[in-house]
Amino acid sequence: MPWAKPTSCTRLAAGADGVAIVGCGGDCLHSGPDPKAELVTRLNRATSDLGLGERVAFFAPAPDDPGAFAENVGQFVDAGIDESPVPTGHEATGVADGSTPNPEFNTHEWALESVRAILPHVDADDVITGLDSFGRVDVNDDCTFTPTCSNLCPTDALRREDAGLEFNHERCVHCGLCEAGCMEDAIRVDGGLEVELLPEHNDGDAWTTVAEGEMRECRRCGKPFTSEASAEKISDEVGDVVAGIASDTTGDIFEYCGDCRAKLVYDR
Ligand code: SF4
Repeated sequence: MPWAKPTSCTRLAAGADGVAIVGCGGDCLHSGPDPKAELVTRLNRATSDLGLGERVAFFAPAPDDPGAFAENVGQFVDAGIDESPVPTGHEATGVADGSTPNPEFNTHEWALESVRAILPHVDADDVITGLDSFGRVDVNDDCTFTPTCSNLCPTDALRREDAGLEFNHERCVHCGLCEAGCMEDAIRVDGGLEVELLPEHNDGDAWTTVAEGEMRECRRCGKPFTSEASAEKISDEVGDVVAGIASDTTGDIFEYCGDCRAKLVYDR
């Protein structure tokens, strides 16, 4: 039921007091406790983090007992939920950041657009942990600023700027590819929407710096060409192998940019 999460968010953003997710009943795969129970638990965690309390329930009507179904839904509506603080009338568009015209219905953009409609009316936690289709990236000091993570990221949520690494929380879909692909084990991704990382809480900037380092400048031409951390790592790993390859250089060959290195090695 991948649609259930954004659909629930759009209903709550429109001012609904609660959301009843109804399975088909009988032997249909849309019925039964799993994975719906887990989904509803997560949705209620999201609504609780948003300050709305638990407002989502799942019902799988038995075909031979429609009365029980009606009674259960009635109890949920009459006794289970308070009036929502979100005013009615919001019409969901699914446009999260305006950079795309009107994206296909997907969990990420529609959920974000709906959360933005809800937030002004609630006292939400700092992190909406139940919205785990969003990821939060943490980068430790082992980062050598290679382009691996930004190349792997399917949504361009990571970018390298000089010797820094920047992260766009709106775009992160918590796929974990950056974490799995990082050779230095420098990245960890946790699920959840962190409100303060959204551009409206960050001076309009969708990008935040998650790691910083220094750039190494070429000893010959002065051009910055790689991060200090990357250069040191490569030098440590293969410095002995290439020692003396350009005998009239001063210092380590990895203190020269690619162009100068080639000249030093081949134009002797
Ligand atoms: S978890 Fe996925 S979407 Fe998020 S930054 Fe990493 S690679 Fe990009």
